[in-house]
Amino acid sequence: MELFQQMADMGHERILFCSSPEVGLRAIVAVHSTVLGPGLGGVRMWPYQSMDEALTDVLRLARGMTYKAAATGLNLGGGKAVILGDPKKDKNEALFRTFGRFVDSLGGLYITAEDVGTDVGDMEWIYTETPWVTGVSAAHGGSGDPSPVTAYGVLQGIKASSQFVYGTDSLAGRSVAIQGLGSVGYHLARFLIQDEKVAKVFGADVDTERIARAQELGVEIVSKEEILGVDCDVVAPCALGAILNETSIPNLKCKIVAGASNNQLADEKRDGRALHERGILYAPDFVINAGGLINVYHELTGYNRERAMRAARGIYNNMIRVYEISDDQSMPTYQAADCLAEERIDRMKRMAPQHWGQHWKKTIRERALPRNGT
Ligand code: NAD
Repeated sequence: MELFQQMADMGHERILFCSSPEVGLRAIVAVHSTVLGPGLGGVRMWPYQSMDEALTDVLRLARGMTYKAAATGLNLGGGKAVILGDPKKDKNEALFRTFGRFVDSLGGLYITAEDVGTDVGDMEWIYTETPWVTGVSAAHGGSGDPSPVTAYGVLQGIKASSQFVYGTDSLAGRSVAIQGLGSVGYHLARFLIQDEKVAKVFGADVDTERIARAQELGVEIVSKEEILGVDCDVVAPCALGAILNETSIPNLKCKIVAGASNNQLADEKRDGRALHERGILYAPDFVINAGGLINVYHELTGYNRERAMRAARGIYNNMIRVYEISDDQSMPTYQAADCLAEERIDRMKRMAPQHWGQHWKKTIRERALPRNGT
């Protein structure tokens, strides 16, 4: 009864427990909301210490996907899956194909993708059993590395933030500090330097190869301890979560925090409010980093990189809308982002049930055909 109560409190529609001792599979699929469309979210493989820990994680992550898709304006709901196991030791073909069959049993209500501990090879195994998977290889119509699209979306979010703070979305002459010069951070630095002609990009990483690659672009390297406190216009976290906290927020010297990292606020309420009170504009992570989700969404209808990049431009308007809500209602931006998502879901709920049925029936046919033919 407790679990039903938890589902009711958090708004989940379904939970599928998947067990196949023969292949060593223990997995949980959580579908949070299908109001806007099928629940899309990656499958995470992690050595959870208990079933409760895995369940808590999957429920929280699935709910997060609903908000991300809704705020981004995609016809997607929220879902997520976790496989209990060590990705370094426990992966095999039978396990992922069996997981694929469980995904298939949901008939398209849940669409899976890569996440922590899973990769494109695993998605290929899943694809053998179900069309309801994204992040497959380019040979199967996959979308490839999402990070340029994510970085482009983050750039749009930074431009919208600049519009809001400085009254112009031109970044010429501005300075940006990027924490983490990995896949997204590197492409963001490239866009800023080559296309936006910013005055300065500071960067920090812990990996010497990534530092060297960024230096070639013209990024000025500072230590990982200094990066968040650099005197600049924008701090762009592109490495770790929980980096906006009681220690880092008082030391920020920027006007805007806008980057790709997931779960940037260590404590959503406390730290979201602290930024608001300090007058630092915070771009809510799940709105600004939606380029990755936009990228795989386009895989469902026939992938085209240019179309995905164009769609990522929409993050600019989404971010402006969040800032307007925050301004109108005097609330921190993280809360305004939740409002934006909830407003859309509530509006769409008033439409006839299964309003996304026709759209997805077409996609089901199109996705099912090539597999049936092979
Ligand atoms: P990545 O692993 O390629 O890059 C992260 C970089 O951060 C690495 O180079 C790592 O060395 C560096 N790093 C680690 N600890 C650091 C520290 N203390 N200080 C400075 N640098 C440090 O990951 P990515 O794909 O670029 O993603 C970056 C963030 O954005 C992650 O939080 C990820 O969840 C999020 N995100 C990524 C995408 C995407 O499309 N890749 C989409 C949405 C969200």
